Amino acid sequence: MSRDEFSGLKAVVTGGASGIGLATAQLLADRGARVACLDLKPDDVPEPLLGVRADVTDDAGVRSAIEEAAHLLGGIDILVNNAGIGAQGAIEDNPDDEWRRVFDVNVFGIVRVTRAALPHLRRSPSAAIVNTCSVAATAGLPQRALYSATKGAVLSLTRATAADLVRDGIRVNCVNPGTVDTPWVGRLLERAEDAEAERAALEARQPMGRLVATDEVAAAIAHLASPLSASTTGTDLAVDGGMQGLRLRPRN
Ligand code: NAD
Repeated sequence: MSRDEFSGLKAVVTGGASGIGLATAQLLADRGARVACLDLKPDDVPEPLLGVRADVTDDAGVRSAIEEAAHLLGGIDILVNNAGIGAQGAIEDNPDDEWRRVFDVNVFGIVRVTRAALPHLRRSPSAAIVNTCSVAATAGLPQRALYSATKGAVLSLTRATAADLVRDGIRVNCVNPGTVDTPWVGRLLERAEDAEAERAALEARQPMGRLVATDEVAAAIAHLASPLSASTTGTDLAVDGGMQGLRLRPRN
């Protein structure tokens, strides 16, 4: 892949201060893009990335953060909607407020950021949106009812938005990671009764027998965002160690 693949392009990554978002922002910058990370914690964003404070649940704040990013970058060609939060439990376990909160970040957050960025994306000759979805959108995982419902919505929203924007020259795709080795999963393991056993179970669930690396998800997002993928829209790309598509026989 050319080091200059994203040369001259400007990218905004939400949730870009940690995990998948940070790895994606760094990869896009390594390949020549100028990148702004919109996050609750902009001070955690390392140079040369630009940190811009934004809470994706605050519409006015999102609009001003997108304008600030567009001003700092000189436009927006690529939007990576990656900010997200988790939730555990079956359908009866989460109170209504938590349902509203997780949808507010994971789904309505994408709506707010995308509609604020659209005027800039419409001016780009090479516009692309990539949403961070999840294997939880395509496989039934235990104890993830609320989280999975949000990611199912992200998958449908990705396809519908791709249809609405194809004639504007804006491509819209998503990635579906399996369990990725990020601070998020670190926090999940900290809360487990037996962290080692929990990690081993998460690794065993993926046919490759290990967690996905953040750089691997970043590479998939960069692939979808790249001008080289100009005919790809409305797709979801699994980055899950085979979790969605493979059915292995148990080892003897
Ligand atoms: P992470 O916790 O390491 O990073 C998430 C970032 O989002 C943080 O920097 C956080 O400050 C930011 N953020 C959270 N709420 C925000 C808000 N309201 N406004 C702005 N920024 C906010 O998490 P991660 O594991 O890198 O996850 C990133 C995305 O990947 C999420 O959408 C998540 O659902 C998805 N995902 C993660 C995994 C996994 O196993 N880690 C698997 C599939 C999908």
